[in-house]
Amino acid sequence: MEATFISPTLFTGAVHRKGCCRDRRPLGASFSRVLGTPTQTLRLQALLGRPVPPLEAPGRVAVPGKEVVIAGGGLAGLSCAKYLAEAGIRPIVLESRDVLGGKVAAWKDADGDWYETGLHIFFGAYPNMLQLFRELKIEDRLQWKEHSMIFNMRDRPGEYSRFDFPEKVPAPFNGVWAILSNREMLTWREKILFARGLIPAMLQGQGYVEACDQYTWTEWLRKQNIPERVNDEIFIAMSKALNFINPDEISAAVVLVALNRFLQEAKGSEMAFLDGAPPERLCEPLVGAIEAAGGHVRCNQRVSQIIYDEKTRMVQGVRLASW
Ligand SMILES: Cc1cc2nc3c(=O)[nH]c(=O)nc-3n(C[C@H](O)[C@H](O)[C@H](O)COP(=O)(O)OP(=O)(O)OC[C@H]3O[C@@H](n4cnc5c(N)ncnc54)[C@H](O)[C@@H]3O)c2cc1C
Repeated sequence: MEATFISPTLFTGAVHRKGCCRDRRPLGASFSRVLGTPTQTLRLQALLGRPVPPLEAPGRVAVPGKEVVIAGGGLAGLSCAKYLAEAGIRPIVLESRDVLGGKVAAWKDADGDWYETGLHIFFGAYPNMLQLFRELKIEDRLQWKEHSMIFNMRDRPGEYSRFDFPEKVPAPFNGVWAILSNREMLTWREKILFARGLIPAMLQGQGYVEACDQYTWTEWLRKQNIPERVNDEIFIAMSKALNFINPDEISAAVVLVALNRFLQEAKGSEMAFLDGAPPERLCEPLVGAIEAAGGHVRCNQRVSQIIYDEKTRMVQGVRLASW
């Protein structure tokens, strides 16, 4: 019998302040030691939403073959479960809340109207997410918008400035065109400085991007001699959208990764919205795929402890909190 514990949240929950990108590696590394370790029994200390046979003893679930416990029914946990299940490894997703989706969760009010955690954009630069939609045969649920980034102008309320990406022009030229043809937000000097600053990211790729983790985005812009105004007008919005923090806090590596993807892929910055509430329109088909492949998804199950034996370096099980 084998059991494994995965918490996708631990990989995605890090705050992307400067210098933090490097800090995230040891966490992933220590967890990869935990992943794949065999264990005799998987002990769950509270009843699962639906019984998962066969029960060995009260509070104990015996698991034949390979089994993986995934803490968290957000998109990472659910998609992880889908792929494991399809690979023949039986996953059990334990979600602490009464709704799936995590940060894309949504709730119905008494009138039957949905309210969501926030607007969610699906970018063309998300190959894995788009692949997932295709596999679930729900790609028609993504509503693609015209390929344009439109900014509300800070000093001219009610007026908008556009970065239009021309159709049929390959990357990075469509992005270069979008930047060069913008009239309101960037002067010619700023456009040249900005483009010059991005060249190393485009040519050297990940190595350059990671080296920039020592700077905040504001510091990076200053190094390129780009005025503070550009920081305020364009990048407060972008850095808050990326990580809910300001450009003088966010690691330059995070913004460069996003800009690089947008520039390297013709449709990278194209945006789509889901045609309804994520729990219904995305999580439901995911759960269907997981269960069809033999996995389980349970809500109202909060993992309170990973029972890990330092000596044997084996996961013994997980403890669930009783509410
Ligand atoms: C308002 C808002 C807007 C956003 N907009 C965008 C956007 O436009 N585009 C975009 O790409 N991204 C956007 N994001 C980010 C995106 O939603 C997240 O990156 C993504 O949903 C994270 O998924 P996840 O599964 O990694 O984590 P989460 O969604 O956080 O899922 C973690 C899950 O684990 C559960 N959990 C936590 N602890 C336990 C425990 N001990 N036991 C069991 N379960 C537990 C939580 O309840 C949660 O359901 C936005 C986020 C927010 C909040």
